[in-house]
Amino acid sequence: MRTEKQTLELYIHIPFCVRKCAYCDFLSAPASRKTQEAYVECLLKEIRRSAELSGTYEVSTVFFGGGTPSILPEKQIGRILEQLRAQFSFRESAEITLEANPGTVDKDKLRAYRDAGVNRLSFGLQSAEDAELRLLSRIHTWRQFLVSYTLAREAGFHNINIDLMSALPGQTEESYQKTLERVLHLEPEHISAYSLIIEEGTPFYERYEGHPELLPSEEEERRMYVLTKEILESGGYRRYEISNYAKKDRECRHNLGYWERTDYKGYGLGAASLLHNIRFTNQTDLSEYLHGNFAGSEEKLTDQAVREEYFFLGLRKTEGIDPGIYREYYRELLKKLKIQKLLDEKDGKIYLTEKGIDLSNYVLAQFLD
Ligand code: SF4
Repeated sequence: MRTEKQTLELYIHIPFCVRKCAYCDFLSAPASRKTQEAYVECLLKEIRRSAELSGTYEVSTVFFGGGTPSILPEKQIGRILEQLRAQFSFRESAEITLEANPGTVDKDKLRAYRDAGVNRLSFGLQSAEDAELRLLSRIHTWRQFLVSYTLAREAGFHNINIDLMSALPGQTEESYQKTLERVLHLEPEHISAYSLIIEEGTPFYERYEGHPELLPSEEEERRMYVLTKEILESGGYRRYEISNYAKKDRECRHNLGYWERTDYKGYGLGAASLLHNIRFTNQTDLSEYLHGNFAGSEEKLTDQAVREEYFFLGLRKTEGIDPGIYREYYRELLKKLKIQKLLDEKDGKIYLTEKGIDLSNYVLAQFLD
C-alpha cells in the first residue's frame, strides 16, 4: 500500500551580496568567487547528509533566499536543484523561487534559471526612486531594475514578486505613491510591502537611532501603510497576509507554508528547519560551515510554543485560522478581542479585522503566554 508522504518545504540560504546595504542585518556579506564556490560544495554535502528525510517527505516548494542568490553563477543554482531532485521526490506543481537582485541578472542567467526549474522570481526593488535606493546603498537604479524585470518576462517568468519598503528616511507620501504606481504599472503577480525597521548593528542604526526627525513621522508612516492597501487593492491585488499582496492564485506558497507551520528544511549558513516540532538552526559562522560543521542548535518545541506559533503565525494570514483544539484555552482572549473589534469569526475561522491588522503587533502578542 502506498502511504502519502508529508509535505516539506526547502530553503536554501545564499549568504553573499555584492555589497552590504546600510539597513540590512541579514546573515549576508560580500565574498570572493572562491569562497562562493566552496560554499556551494558544502551546501551539496549538507543536502546529501539529509538523505533520510526523502523517505517520509515530498517537496512542495523550494526557496533560494539570502543574501543574493542571483550572485551565484547560474550553473551553481542548477547543481543545487539537481542534487535536491536526485534526493527528494518533488510535487509536480512545486513552486521554486529564487531571490534576485536587479543588476545581478542577465538574459542567459535568467534562461538558465528557467531551464533548471526555477518558476518564480522575487526582485528586491525596495523603491522606484533612485535617491532612496542610493540612501539604502542598493546596487541598482530604477532603470536597471526595469531592464532586469523585462528580461525576466522575456525569459518566460510568469510569476514574479517585487519587494517594496516604506518609511524610509526622506521618503514622502508622494514619492512612495510614485513607487507603488510605477510598480503597479508593471503588473507583477505578487508584491511584498514592508516598513523599514532600524536594526541594531547596522549603519542605519548609527545614523538614525535617536533621530526620529530624520525619519517619516508615525502619522506619515501610517498614511504610507494605508496607501499601500488602497493602491494595490485598486490595482487588483488581494492582501492575503499583513504585508503581502497577490493577484488571484499567485500567493507565495512557500511563505504560506511557513505561516501554516508546514515542516521545512533549511540548508546553508544559519538556515532554520522545523521537523516534527523540532527547530534546528544551522551554524552561523561561515568558516566553521566551510569546514563541514553545519549543525548549530536544536530545540524541541513545547506544547505551549507550538500553540503560540500556531496563532502568532497563522493569524498573519487574512483568511485566518481554525482555533481547533485551542479554542477553549483562548476562550476569554478571543471573546475580549472580538469585543474590541480586533478579531472576527466566519465559517469556523478566526481572523484579524482591518483594525486588528492595523494593530497586529499588539493583537498577536496577546497569544504569547
Ligand atoms: S541585498 Fe538584501 S541581503 Fe544583501 S545586503 Fe542588501 S538587503 Fe541585505
